Amino acid sequence: MSTHPKYVYSFGGGKADGRADMKELLGGKGANLAEMSSIGIPVPPGFTITTEVCHDYYEAGRKLPESVKPEVEAALKKVEEQVGKKFGDASDPLLVSVRSGAALSMPGMMNTILNLGLTDAAVEGFGKKTNNLRLALDSYRRLIDMFGSTAMGVEHELFEHELTGLKKEKKVKEDTELTADDLKELVKRYKAVYQKAVGEPFPQDPKDQLWKAIMAVFNSWMGNKAVEYRRIERITGLKGTAVNVQAMVFGNTGDNSGTGVAFTRDPNNGENTFYGDYLINAQGEDVVAGIRTPEPISRLHEEMPKVYDQLMDIRQKLEKHYKEMQDIEFTVQDGTLYMLQTRTGKRTGTSAVRIAVELVKEGLIDEKTAVQRVNPESLNHLLLPQLDPKSKNKPVAQGIAASPGAASGKIILTAEAAVEFAEKHPDEPIMLVRKETSPEDVAGMHLAKGILTSTGGKASHAAVVARGWGKPCVVGCEAIKIDEKAGTVTIAGKTLKVGDYITINGTTGDVMIGQVETIDPSVSGDFAVLMGWADKARKLKVRTNADTPADAAKAREFGAEGIGLCRTEHMFFGDERIVAMRKMILADDTKGREAALAALEPFQKKDFVGIFEAMDGLPVTIRLLDPPLHEFLPHDAKGQETVAKELGIPVQKVKDRVEQLHEFNPMLGFRGCRLPIVYPEIGDMQVRAIISAAIDVKKAGKSVLPEIMIPLIGTVAELKILKERAIKLADELIKASGQKVEYLVGTMIEIPRAALVADKVAEEAQFFSFGTNDLTQMTFGFSRDDIKSFMGTYLKEKILPVDPFQSIDVEGVGQLIEWGVKRGREGRKAKHNEHLKVGICGEHGGDPDSVVFCHKVGMDYVSCSPFRVPIARLAAAQASLAEGGKIARDK
Ligand code: ADP
Ligand code: MG
Ligand code: MG
Repeated sequence: MSTHPKYVYSFGGGKADGRADMKELLGGKGANLAEMSSIGIPVPPGFTITTEVCHDYYEAGRKLPESVKPEVEAALKKVEEQVGKKFGDASDPLLVSVRSGAALSMPGMMNTILNLGLTDAAVEGFGKKTNNLRLALDSYRRLIDMFGSTAMGVEHELFEHELTGLKKEKKVKEDTELTADDLKELVKRYKAVYQKAVGEPFPQDPKDQLWKAIMAVFNSWMGNKAVEYRRIERITGLKGTAVNVQAMVFGNTGDNSGTGVAFTRDPNNGENTFYGDYLINAQGEDVVAGIRTPEPISRLHEEMPKVYDQLMDIRQKLEKHYKEMQDIEFTVQDGTLYMLQTRTGKRTGTSAVRIAVELVKEGLIDEKTAVQRVNPESLNHLLLPQLDPKSKNKPVAQGIAASPGAASGKIILTAEAAVEFAEKHPDEPIMLVRKETSPEDVAGMHLAKGILTSTGGKASHAAVVARGWGKPCVVGCEAIKIDEKAGTVTIAGKTLKVGDYITINGTTGDVMIGQVETIDPSVSGDFAVLMGWADKARKLKVRTNADTPADAAKAREFGAEGIGLCRTEHMFFGDERIVAMRKMILADDTKGREAALAALEPFQKKDFVGIFEAMDGLPVTIRLLDPPLHEFLPHDAKGQETVAKELGIPVQKVKDRVEQLHEFNPMLGFRGCRLPIVYPEIGDMQVRAIISAAIDVKKAGKSVLPEIMIPLIGTVAELKILKERAIKLADELIKASGQKVEYLVGTMIEIPRAALVADKVAEEAQFFSFGTNDLTQMTFGFSRDDIKSFMGTYLKEKILPVDPFQSIDVEGVGQLIEWGVKRGREGRKAKHNEHLKVGICGEHGGDPDSVVFCHKVGMDYVSCSPFRVPIARLAAAQASLAEGGKIARDK
């Protein structure tokens, strides 16, 4: 008896060994081929070699386990029986495709080989049997190309070069215009290319081809493209790829055949319409590769009405069965339809929201499932700035709207150049403009604000990848002429250079010259409905980080339930304020400082009044001044002269003070609570401004809930001094005003020591807010502003799984947070018998994975920038619905 697990799973003829829920083992493609086959959808028969074999292959140092061989032989035999042809038969050969497929779909990452089993002898038989020598030769030359380039590392370009050359010689434009004789010549040339590059002739033993192809799929799992894609998408923990071997069907037999790809709903806007492209007389990747411009699927209704109706039925059947929008691939051979793939369709955030809401309305899923379906990060898409409709920049060209949202950027023509440009100018927007993109380009595509291509359809590589990332993209814009060598792009008679601005609207397909203003989006329609369901499900509250009434109002529109962090430092800039601030810093004594602060106070108060009014009824956490004072003084001679003139003091005095304030490590210097401890009058002024603003707004009939937050404490003594002083002052003001105002005094937990002694700190704090930026800096000993030089390498070498400033380092920083929450709550309870309110106000508050962590450790709220509020609301709902289990959403 064999003890190893089953390595090979068969499918076909209305039956299958596997099921859709076996993705980990069979890969997404294999699992769904099995599922389709067993629900009676026409699928060419085949078998799947499991991801465990891939795993074992690498464990054994790239060697296949022995027992996989007989299983493959047996499964192949089954396929031969079902098709009624033999693999390697010279007169009527069974041909197969060898296809990769991991548990998660990775578009374009892995290699597929078609027409496997053709040899010099078999091509004759195949041609005779099908009465179509042209088809046989066309299939053969494709095999040599695909096998050569994916299994044996021959450059695809070398084959392409021969094809273009021959077409030129024969004076034809399309591949389909080449005759059988031409193709015979092409095969000859391809074989020569192959032999030259590989050092041996193209294999004439089909089994030899098959095993080499299987190994090639396994090898591609560790290829650069696949590794890069997994890194960017943060995909970890997969066993490997499966290999699917499947009987070939031919979309290239003539005009009654074709191949296509489609989505069961529109992946851009979510509309319930059939959406896709097809090509008559074509095979495999032709539609996706942008070789010929494909026809929209609606045309199929006229060209092949019967097939179209059948396809519409299958569309219905698949959606009902999977209860989800599907991305399908099909081929028609001599009028007969075959399905070759189905999977959950990638979509924009806009589309995801609409589809989820409509599937609930159609009764296919419930509200909770809908909430779990949408990737929070994809909401970015609905929150993307749109082009200002009043803009005077008129479109100069139109392509296919492939991924919505608007973007302006500087023209860059290659992915490598984009990577270089981004390194030199990290803050400048890039527009990647190319004829088409390929998997080699993903790193550069990732860095671009938008992607514009001159060829390709809705299913082209650029379109699929951009949609997956929620990046604006326009494809197939034939009006643009790209000259990579000259570094120019010509549109509508105008020539633009690399570095010039260009704008695309991925929602409409429009292309504009120059930079176009954009406007803010809003939460309405289906988006609002979904957010309503999310709010019912979540336990975490969501606040925002906002420093101005405008931001506060925007965040409120997006559903913020308060301000979790109002920074006060920016309030010290602005013409009159900065002068007073500098006076304060340059004052010789307390008196001088107090005088300068008195000039600042009305400004501060006015700012707080505005914010309190905007947040009427919701809590507002205000952080006392945090940055080191030298940030308010100019460091250059000219600036110092100006300041001296402004304040009527000698330049030398300014210089001396700057020197005196100089710190070797300002991040760990005289900042945060250390400022008001040394200069209590600074803290007093801020507390007075906050409380008197609250009194005024409350008197005017609004509801105010100020929370005074003391930053950067490491010891309880620091907090105690400042808290007591603040309370004394606030209570005096409230008493004198005769207006009751409730307020809280709490602290930020951002120094590891504060987290460690959280129980003591909580005795003095009415709330905690984790400042995870500083906490991460100080726990790792990384200065966030200086990580550029090494973080790239750290991520590449997998020293860190993710940038800890983007997503909370659960393993390390997470321990401090967990401890801080637990001990803080215990300390507060023991001393005051009160619940300690805990939140987070670092930028992590808007990162979905970090929000899940905040839910797990029992925080009361997260706080993030206004535009991330809906993302945090959804992430919080998903965390709550998953309750400890895995988040169900598709990556
Ligand atoms: P990808 O993962 O890039 O989508 P696939 O394995 O789906 O790669 O293969 C790409 C294309 O090759 C398919 O869309 C289909 O058109 C074609 N193809 C794959 N297997 C077969 C087959 N057995 N018969 C005909 N065409 C096939
Ligand atoms: Mg592919
Ligand atoms: Mg496919």
